Amino acid sequence: MNSKIWLSSPHMSGQEDKFISEAFATNWIAPLGPNVNGFEQDLETYLEQEVHVAALTTGTAAIHLALILLNVTRNDEVICQTKTFAASVNPVCYLGAKPVFVDSELDTWNMCPVLLKQAIEDRIQKGKKPKAIIVINLYGMPHKVKEIENISKEYQIPILEDSAEALGSSYFNRKCGTFGDFSVLSFNGNKIITTSGGGALVSHSKNTKNKTVFLATQAKDPGIEYAHSSIGYNYRMSNVLAGIGRGQMQVLDNYVNLRRANHQYYFKHLNYIDDISFLNEPEGYFSNRWLTVIVLKTNKMREDLLRALNNNNIEARPSWKPMHLQTVFEQFPSYLNGVSEDLYKNGLCLPSGSNLTTQELDKIVKIIKQYFG
Ligand SMILES: *Cc1c(COP(=O)(O)O)cnc(C)c1O
Repeated sequence: MNSKIWLSSPHMSGQEDKFISEAFATNWIAPLGPNVNGFEQDLETYLEQEVHVAALTTGTAAIHLALILLNVTRNDEVICQTKTFAASVNPVCYLGAKPVFVDSELDTWNMCPVLLKQAIEDRIQKGKKPKAIIVINLYGMPHKVKEIENISKEYQIPILEDSAEALGSSYFNRKCGTFGDFSVLSFNGNKIITTSGGGALVSHSKNTKNKTVFLATQAKDPGIEYAHSSIGYNYRMSNVLAGIGRGQMQVLDNYVNLRRANHQYYFKHLNYIDDISFLNEPEGYFSNRWLTVIVLKTNKMREDLLRALNNNNIEARPSWKPMHLQTVFEQFPSYLNGVSEDLYKNGLCLPSGSNLTTQELDKIVKIIKQYFG
């Protein structure tokens, strides 16, 4: 009973082998084949809206290609939510463009529409209209879709929705991963479903999907010759890994329910403690509760609990360190209100995998209760 309790570990359904075996039996091992097409179709069906999905090597690659398709180039400015994981913003720098960071609001912990508007106005005044807005669905909670969309329309700036953490979440019955001009999904090992490593770019036309696949397969012009008229990338998902994805799609809704049940469990047993608060779902919002994060009253409490859990072989983590505080990004402009810094100081990510047992949840809850006496 002393094995490590992980924050969010891979959880296989048992169906993955079948799709992988098919790939081997038919020798479709390459980065194309029936599992890739099948996985993309499964995702398109799941997302329900009229969308086109291109399966790629990683979510980071999907963000990179989306920015290229949005014509982001050297010295352009791209607005990005500061409260996120570095993968949301690194591709901005791959292109020689400059990130501009915007803080969060307290209802969803995602991009604050008021600050976004201020940031856009200020950038325009300083001489440059931002080229794109990267908004996140942090820990699975949908962002303020309507408010951000309205600003995007008003200023004619496209949205890239980073939904890497939010497959299975929805906003007024529309699935996350379908908003904005482009959406990004991730199937990294710690995400709600995994292909061991993988991602997808979701767009709204067949033509855009074709362009994505073209760029992701070395941008080879049609024909048997190796002819190239633009720079390409090697970002297409392999048919073997897409087989894992097909098996995982069969259990996605079940995993969403299991993660939500983890959150319910923590809420039920810890919400009575005055020094702990949770992020509730605003009306119309449905979170996959990828990670449950509790917010402690003080940083000391967070540090103490982090240590207590880690000492018991339980993986807990501080919540994402905002990008404007990162050494590598601190020279870029930021528009702040203190929300992301408070969440960083006092937020604690608790084990949240769909494969957690009740005994494990109970052990975690006991350690936290014990701390508060
Ligand atoms: C995981 C993650 C990514 C990157 O996805 P990869 O598939 O690991 O490249 C991007 N953005 C956010 C918010 C993430 O959590």
